Amino acid sequence: MRKKIVAGNWKMNNNFNQTKDLVTELKEFNFPKDVSVMISPAYPFLKTSVDLLQDSSIKVVSQNIHQKNNGAYTGEVSSEMLKSIGVNNTLIGHSERRAYFNETDDVLLEKIEFALNNNLNIIFCFGEELSDRKSNNHFKLVKTQLDNTVLKMNKESWKNIILAYEPVWAIGTGETATPEQAQEMHEFVRNYICECYDNSVSDNVSILYGGSVKPSNASEIFNKNDVDGGLIGGASLSAKDFNLIIEANSSL
Ligand code: PEP
Repeated sequence: MRKKIVAGNWKMNNNFNQTKDLVTELKEFNFPKDVSVMISPAYPFLKTSVDLLQDSSIKVVSQNIHQKNNGAYTGEVSSEMLKSIGVNNTLIGHSERRAYFNETDDVLLEKIEFALNNNLNIIFCFGEELSDRKSNNHFKLVKTQLDNTVLKMNKESWKNIILAYEPVWAIGTGETATPEQAQEMHEFVRNYICECYDNSVSDNVSILYGGSVKPSNASEIFNKNDVDGGLIGGASLSAKDFNLIIEANSSL
């Protein structure tokens, strides 16, 4: 059965004290039991976050990993390093990594392979630019993004893969995809995964929506059949708003 998930991507925000304060604030909430909650603080604060969350169900997620295990790659962090501090989850393929750090599908494929081989769970992000949507190329583009990366993984790997559909035009812009647009893409992706494997994979993979989700629009998006939750940027920096978004994903 697929899980309901809400994950917060804190990006390059919050210093050490702000991170500790936000993690501590989140720990105080009684999150609904049917929603798995994840947060993604910046690299230097992952270990502190893991330690602070020892007796909590909130999971800590890295925002990125390098596609090698160790060696002369100055400034990079490997899956193995993350595992050694108790981080078992990572984002891969966020549109900001693709746009500002030239992460191509080939690079992302390597990252996926390294993460899964090191038993990290991945949240793989994909989604079209506005120009793709305007030219009605968004389904084709998304299909290619998935064909070149996660769909090269074997069926067994999918128990460690979460997908996040994040139309680039909706990230940090305040412009959200309509619930219908999100549902249409999520359904397309789920059906395509079924074609590539079978419904034991497609029925069980959680597909999150990301792009300007906030307390005021979360429940109408999460209510759609194929939307299993959200990857939340800006609104995850406020404990109060993040909690409201998590509650919007609960059926309890
Ligand atoms: C994101 O960065 O993954 C994201 C969805 O950001 P925002 O919620 O701010 O649009």
